[in-house]
Amino acid sequence: MIKIKYPNDKTAFEADYIGLFSITPEIQDKYVRINAHLNNHLPNSLEELLVAPIETLITSCFQIPRLPKHLQRYLKNFFQYDDFQNKISYFFIRNKNKINLKTCYYCNIDFINAFQDIGDYNDGLDFVKKASENELEKIKDIGTATIQKILAQRGLINSLQDLTLNNKQKINIENFVLKDEHSHFTLDHVLNKAKHPISALSLYNFVPCCYSCNSKFKGKKELINEVNEAILSPTYSNFSFHEHSSFKILLNSKVADFKGIKKNEDFVVVVEFLENADKYKKYLEVFKLKGRYKSHKHIALELINKSQDYSDTQIEEISKLVNRPVALIKSDIFGKNIFEGTLEDNPFTKYSRDIASNIGIKDVKLID
Ligand SMILES: [Zn+2]
Repeated sequence: MIKIKYPNDKTAFEADYIGLFSITPEIQDKYVRINAHLNNHLPNSLEELLVAPIETLITSCFQIPRLPKHLQRYLKNFFQYDDFQNKISYFFIRNKNKINLKTCYYCNIDFINAFQDIGDYNDGLDFVKKASENELEKIKDIGTATIQKILAQRGLINSLQDLTLNNKQKINIENFVLKDEHSHFTLDHVLNKAKHPISALSLYNFVPCCYSCNSKFKGKKELINEVNEAILSPTYSNFSFHEHSSFKILLNSKVADFKGIKKNEDFVVVVEFLENADKYKKYLEVFKLKGRYKSHKHIALELINKSQDYSDTQIEEISKLVNRPVALIKSDIFGKNIFEGTLEDNPFTKYSRDIASNIGIKDVKLID
């Protein structure tokens, strides 16, 4: 539903990714021999394969001749995902700000944020004064002896600098640098790794997504069955579901216009496509998006009701009364994500923006 926005200059991002695999000349050599066996349908080097654009990957996968079982097994073993799963997952956590990892790229229904397993503290000083031993232990480079020091000193200090710890430890506390970060996301292979083993470790074959999209709905289903279906992958530079689709309200025959809508039964929400309808209909089906969005129809009803409660004139009056700009009042009423930010910032942003625009709320941000 939402295109993954990679950094504009991908050089460092991709080099960082390739670095996860510690490719030796022997491994490279093996890869070259594998490629020769596959009629050289793969990129020339393993590095190139690891960061190949999804369309290149798809073309390679579909060009490879049918392989005998033993060779298929060998490939699966060579491109073994399980060995690198943690490293790859951590790569996405480390780069969460670069790709704005916030909601599921497939559905925009659930958050997929990476999070730190400690409570909310004002600053490092607040943290050392109040944190439990268990929380103190989560800070990088802090062990049992240091925790005892902190516990003995924390009642007496006025600043972090008063602690008799080394500088690195103080910096880690100040910036909440933890030993581990946790994630709410799963990584989906766009191209099924069992069927297309050569794609199992490639960066642009991964979509960070919610558990439901990955395991419950897509599962082992093939999202992409042919070369010209790259457009179904949020990792593809021309992915356009968010631009070429629109949630739209259709009124029940008993209701004359949006003003007449009072309850869920008064309208339905459909998805219309400007382009690539056939392809994107498959996308809706694979992720069961029609049904999943239908169960959140209250979001649309709430927007409709609010637009009935507040006319443009009334919003202007409130703005004058409280001496705040109209835009801020509208954000307060209808929700900030409708007017600013990016689609992936919050769940249901695409849905809310389309509905808001559909019912005539002005200044909705439609282009991300
Ligand atoms: Zn999802």
